[in-house]
Amino acid sequence: MARRKKIYEGKAKILYEGPEPGTIVQYFKDDATAFNAQKHATIEGKGVLNNRLSEFFMTGLNAIGVPTHFIRRLNMREQLCRSCEIIPLEVVVRNYAAGSLAKRLGIEEGTALPRPIVEYYYKDDKLGDPMVTEEHIAAFNWASQQDMDDILALALRVNDFLSGVMIAVGIRLVDFKIEIGRVYDGDYQRLVVADEISPDSCRLWDIETGQKLDKDVFRRDLGSLTDAYTEVARRLGVIPNEPTKMTKPTLIN
Ligand code: C5P
Repeated sequence: MARRKKIYEGKAKILYEGPEPGTIVQYFKDDATAFNAQKHATIEGKGVLNNRLSEFFMTGLNAIGVPTHFIRRLNMREQLCRSCEIIPLEVVVRNYAAGSLAKRLGIEEGTALPRPIVEYYYKDDKLGDPMVTEEHIAAFNWASQQDMDDILALALRVNDFLSGVMIAVGIRLVDFKIEIGRVYDGDYQRLVVADEISPDSCRLWDIETGQKLDKDVFRRDLGSLTDAYTEVARRLGVIPNEPTKMTKPTLIN
């Protein structure tokens, strides 16, 4: 069997060349990293859950007309996506103060923000993904003004969609990060939501109890990450509510 070509290996995923031109296969690993990979662990089942959850969110976005790179899930750990040129920005949308915003501005975690706040970080592990403004993005030509208008609109639409989906299952979308890719259709280029959307890249708190159901469980050693992600998947109906009952085998003499 021919080996497929690995395009890129990141902290939580591997990208392979896809079966048709213009496609890639995204493989979800079980690795969890935090604090720019200073903390690392392998968490059994995380990749399978994130593959399913990202499929769920991306399919929903495609269905409401928010373009994404997602085509279809292939198996437990892999999905087929359109290949795109990733814009070197992490786009963060925040509804409640938490994480780096709470720390930077001295706002108590959980404080509702007056409106969603969109921030941009330059994707560079060596620099620790520094926050940048639209001035830097324009000056260094990472994205055009038209791109920035489109990115802001996409980010806010993703925020509305995800907030609604999560509220319906009793979960508060505190903040999240997305990445944006460029795809070319003939002479035209358009922007799509790329990478993944999963509890690795969102902050999700139970509305009733405030329990954290996202990667902060790993970052802050708050318990089992698999249990937290399974709870999110279960509430969204992505995995069955009840464990599958095993029927007792019938013994024939
Ligand atoms: O750490 P910070 O508060 O800036 O993170 C904001 C949001 O972006 C969180 O949901 C976090 O999980 C996500 N994020 C991410 N990847 C990064 C940095 C932040 O998914 N490299």
